[in-house]
Amino acid sequence: MINYENILRKERIKNFYEGNDVDRVPFYTNATIYSGVLGKLSSKEFYLNPELSYSTQRLVLDIHHCDGSPSFDFPGYTGLMFGGEIEYKDNPYVSIPLIKPRVKSISDIEKIKVPNLEIDIEENLKFKFFKILNEKGVSIPISMGSPLEIVSNICDITLLVKLFRKDTEALHRLLRCATDYLKLMGNITINMFGIDKCYCSSNFPIESLISTKLFENHSLPYFLEVYEYFRSKGVKSYSLHLCGNHNRNLEIFRHIGLPDRTFISLDEKIDMDKASSIFGEKYILAGNVSSNSLLNGTYKEVYSISKDIIIKNKSRKGGFALMPSCTLPPYTPPLNLYAMYKACEDFGKY
Ligand SMILES: [Zn+2]
Repeated sequence: MINYENILRKERIKNFYEGNDVDRVPFYTNATIYSGVLGKLSSKEFYLNPELSYSTQRLVLDIHHCDGSPSFDFPGYTGLMFGGEIEYKDNPYVSIPLIKPRVKSISDIEKIKVPNLEIDIEENLKFKFFKILNEKGVSIPISMGSPLEIVSNICDITLLVKLFRKDTEALHRLLRCATDYLKLMGNITINMFGIDKCYCSSNFPIESLISTKLFENHSLPYFLEVYEYFRSKGVKSYSLHLCGNHNRNLEIFRHIGLPDRTFISLDEKIDMDKASSIFGEKYILAGNVSSNSLLNGTYKEVYSISKDIIIKNKSRKGGFALMPSCTLPPYTPPLNLYAMYKACEDFGKY
């Protein structure tokens, strides 16, 4: 049977990224762990069984008419790669795992090394998931971190805060390791799937919690190194998630000089008007329906918030997609996600 919705969705997304006309505002859900909850999967099923995670996410995206694709979401996975310990929790279904980081003291930092990923490459859950994406014709993400975000996965957070104040040499050693790790992961991904199948994505949760000066001194140089590395290798598409309050950092992101049509998703704490005027026509913006409203609001409230965001942004020249502010809260009522889709259908048509 021909799935017309699927054909329409693929067409919409292709045109959207190429900057051509689309029928309506695209709708993304960030519904990863949410899908596991809706599918009643345990943490072990969701995190350790890529086929089951993919097929459950695909079903959930279909019932919500989402324009996105399933993605590998395993909070703290990099921490595990660096030798951290993990504890799975069910609440009653899949929940965010507890990771005990590898680095708990300064002496641990002296011993830290980039993991040898090639040894167990066939068993690596991330690459198993990517192979499924590839079979289904979905683009493969290469993570660009940020390197500081990777450090927050490897290092105990109280120690990390101390390093910012007292031992920047040790902090830079961790950042060096994280940067080399990202390059290595990206290289393996490119060798496995080919450069034309890959795009680069990065997330900046820690940078919203530190001053602009610390961001510029301790995060940005490493991020730029990773970005330039993949750009020189020929990766053409990029996406950034500005997680948390980045209003003061928007100019910094603009000056990175990412290519046209880079997809930038914004947290609800970011002023969309300000971001739109700073990023101008070059970049696609997406966002930023409040996580709290999605989790605790009513259908009517989420519909009305989504309507306002769509009406304000649908005609911006760079392009706009409706999306939750961040990862969708796992226990969001399904009707609230439907409210976002319904608002796109009712007010997002061109
Ligand atoms: Zn976020």
